[in-house]
Amino acid sequence: MKQLIDEVAAYHPDEPFFHVGADEAWLLGTCPRCARAARRVGKNGLYLTHMKPVWQHVLSLGKRPIMWDDMLRRFTLTELKQVPRDVVLMYWLYNRFEPDVAANFPHLPRYLEQGFDVLGASAAKGADGRFANLPNVDRRLRNVFAWARVARRHQLTGVVSTAWSRYTYLLAPCEPFETAWLSLAGSAEAYWTARPPSPDAFVRKFLRLDGGAEDDELAELILRPGRPGYAKLAEVLRARAASGGRRPNYWLLLSALYELEAWIGHCQEVEKQVVHQLPLFEAGRLPPTSRNQLRQRVRRSLAQVGALKTLLSKELRKTLPRAEVEEFVASRLDGYEVVLEALADVIG
Ligand SMILES: [Zn+2]
Repeated sequence: MKQLIDEVAAYHPDEPFFHVGADEAWLLGTCPRCARAARRVGKNGLYLTHMKPVWQHVLSLGKRPIMWDDMLRRFTLTELKQVPRDVVLMYWLYNRFEPDVAANFPHLPRYLEQGFDVLGASAAKGADGRFANLPNVDRRLRNVFAWARVARRHQLTGVVSTAWSRYTYLLAPCEPFETAWLSLAGSAEAYWTARPPSPDAFVRKFLRLDGGAEDDELAELILRPGRPGYAKLAEVLRARAASGGRRPNYWLLLSALYELEAWIGHCQEVEKQVVHQLPLFEAGRLPPTSRNQLRQRVRRSLAQVGALKTLLSKELRKTLPRAEVEEFVASRLDGYEVVLEALADVIG
């Protein structure tokens, strides 16, 4: 561990901080050796046994350790007091949207009372579900803005906007980085002024600074995309990209991803129709017109896969390496394609 820290620290001689992670050690105390130790000193005690030399080593390099706070949330006060005050706590909460500390940031008072420097951590993307194709802009902005308000009121050391790429390394990636410009720009504005606007006002400002009109209608669609339907939204975003502005590729990628959302929704509906009527079909009781209709729907969905793959690949390739583009596209479309083909086989 110390060797690893030295190796990384050598590349950052002037950095005053060193992030030691130390989060989500949920399996702590499960192997036989650690289980014995945990019986003696408790899981939190075992955690401290591991972390104390790590903190000391980082401090001996003249750097302050930063750590995720989540394991400390279950610490007793006595246990918490054993964490050196030079350790900066990074308190992450990605799905809290109001700056009400008692209700939404319950551990903050304890950390501050104990004299810790606290960094907040919001999520600009990668916190709206492990299979998300796009960030939920409204939720991301409200999370960032809530943290900005809390940071100002409690004089926190700062706030970091995280942008997660996949929930675990065994899962397909969530939404690509390029989809996060609104919440990243919102982070810059909110952490700089610490007086964030409403998400609606911010999106309108973003649209104005992007070089187009404020466009209240588009702002509304970006924040509440479900209403007009994703296909319609994809079209509106393509038009926005074509109308000039600084970041056409951002709008084009969002547009392609809303095309994907629209197609997935359509495909799931078709699958449901086939599945529900399969018993009738197999019993030969489905009228020929219904059967033809089903066949056509399945074939139409299948026929659209190729074009969708081309569109997605083209837009993703502007900001992602080829291997990541291929992984993303395959993870979103190959499975549906397999299911549609199987259904097509069944209903002929
Ligand atoms: Zn162990």
